[in-house]
Amino acid sequence: MSKTILVTGGTGFIGSWVVKYLLEEGNTVRLTLRNKGNKAKYEFLESIAIKSGAKLEIWEADLLKEGCFDEAAAGCDMIYHLASPFILKFSDAEKELILPALKGTENVLNAATKSKTVKRIVLTSSVAAIFGDNADMKEQGLKEFTEANWNTSSSATHQQYSYSKTLAEKRAWEMEKSQSQWSLVVINPSFVIGPSLEKSSNSGSLQFMNDLISGKYRMGAPNLEFSFVDVRDVAKAHILAAENTKTKGRFIIAAQELSMVELVKIIENAYPKKFKLPLMTAPKFSLFLVGWAFGLSNKFIARNVGHNISINSTKSKVELGIDYYPIEESVKDMIKTL
Ligand code: NDP
Repeated sequence: MSKTILVTGGTGFIGSWVVKYLLEEGNTVRLTLRNKGNKAKYEFLESIAIKSGAKLEIWEADLLKEGCFDEAAAGCDMIYHLASPFILKFSDAEKELILPALKGTENVLNAATKSKTVKRIVLTSSVAAIFGDNADMKEQGLKEFTEANWNTSSSATHQQYSYSKTLAEKRAWEMEKSQSQWSLVVINPSFVIGPSLEKSSNSGSLQFMNDLISGKYRMGAPNLEFSFVDVRDVAKAHILAAENTKTKGRFIIAAQELSMVELVKIIENAYPKKFKLPLMTAPKFSLFLVGWAFGLSNKFIARNVGHNISINSTKSKVELGIDYYPIEESVKDMIKTL
């Protein structure tokens, strides 16, 4: 049955895929963004709504303004809360990352309670709320990260984005416990890649891939390992977790761990000689000298470069039935849309 659903962050890299799938199912979607006048951010979603015969409503709301989501949430059955800054460059972490993540979550969840109609909330957290640095795994005596783990190494001065996601997710669980109207399920994606539906996102995902193919790491890529996942799998996971109200807790959504150099090989195989890709792995000692030029602090380099990670996403396969896209396909499709 068609539902009325509020999606925050629906103009973003991940959110636009969530909105597309919800519209294609025939739901009424209420999309919030900060500036309604910026039509380029949602015109492509209006076309999808028309094609699907579904309704798309556009609302203005800012994470930092208290009460801002109340009207949009009134009468909704569900909320997908994706809005949160995922930016690689910032000058004031408190203002640009931590407050929007934390206050935004409080605002949206309070709006849900005030609506009296919202029964289910999906919050987009991140594996960044599970661990902060790759070194955490060994330090905590773990063989892999699972949904049971929490990031304890990030702070307001180190890995601030991860800190913002950890604070926001913790706050959401506290707020769930204090009421009985709605249930919460949390999606914890790893680094998201894949095709972008929209053109103006500042998502760290798009920035990272653009940097990689445009020659930023030409002289050498840091030996950094990430876990990657396709944006279409992340969006589907949101919808499956919302609709199956028996699902509980957190869901790591992650397909494969790869070093930057392994990722570069995949790009080179898909698009031979097309991009100025890194020529080699940069030695760790050299990064301590030049890392600042790439925005890498010495503490980040020490605790991440050369440290392997393993992320267990079995729960998503068993309970949500996610069959992950091969990363080679995600990379190819992402570069096509860039
Ligand atoms: P985008 O930058 O593409 O999207 C961010 C969205 O958040 C935009 O829709 C933007 O809306 C909204 N937003 C940002 N700041 C505010 C604000 N102050 N008030 C209202 N809305 C705001 O990022 P992604 O799609 O990559 O990320 C979406 C979510 O997924 C985030 O919560 C992020 O932390 C999480 N995530 C992302 C991962 C990734 O690899 N990309 C990995 C794991 C989690 P507007 O149109 O107004 O700008």
